[in-house]
Amino acid sequence: MKKGQMLYEGKGKRLYKTDNDDLLIAEFKDDLTAFNAQKKGSEEGKGALNNKISTQLFRLLEQNGIKTHLIDVLSDTQQLVKKVQIIPLEVVVRNIATGSLSKRLGITEGEILPFTLVELYYKNDDLGDPLVNDEHCLIMNLVKTEKDLQVLRHLGREINSILFKFFETKGLKLVDFKVEFGIDRDGNIVLADEISPDSCRFWDAKTNEKLDKDRFRQGLGNVKVAYEEILRRILS
Ligand code: UDP
Repeated sequence: MKKGQMLYEGKGKRLYKTDNDDLLIAEFKDDLTAFNAQKKGSEEGKGALNNKISTQLFRLLEQNGIKTHLIDVLSDTQQLVKKVQIIPLEVVVRNIATGSLSKRLGITEGEILPFTLVELYYKNDDLGDPLVNDEHCLIMNLVKTEKDLQVLRHLGREINSILFKFFETKGLKLVDFKVEFGIDRDGNIVLADEISPDSCRFWDAKTNEKLDKDRFRQGLGNVKVAYEEILRRILS
């Protein structure tokens, strides 16, 4: 597959055209950003780790009936993906309170939520990705219909139930995560972007050690070691 012109560069990935109009190449970067890119860094090999981790998780989800944009792995850092129109919403799914939820609402860090919480954030760096409700989404045409919002929430919960159980068998708590969806040429809503320690929180089931991007956010060190540990457990 020939890599064409770069279409887009995000914080964690670059997207390139290919000679097929329906396909793109996604290239995972080593860059790390936090707090809406106010904190920046880089870890050599992080892109390759996220590519491997996300590929494994997308394949697991596909096996469980979730449609994704992933077609193939092309190299250490590159995937071939279906071209989709990204829905400008971050679907955040939470099992345990931490991060912005604890900060905003004062819910104690580490508290297990009585049920899985799904939140929607508007993907807009200039506005700092604000939390939005259904009416905001419809007023701003972020989705076409109310049904789309139900589908996004349903998919978020389905993905959570598959991944939560999977990580439980690997001695990890899936605390929370963010997913993004796109619309393919047939009008289907499919999982896009990535699922990796950049976009999830994983705590060791026994020690509660953080094994995700919080190590970078909070300056805890051993960022790459943590990502390697996640890949090791996924493959174990
Ligand atoms: N998240 C993400 N990208 C974002 C914001 C959040 O991948 O732009 C993920 C984050 O890694 C965590 C979950 O979504 O797994 C919930 O994040 P939270 O709202 O607590 O935000 P934070 O504490 O990172 O500001």
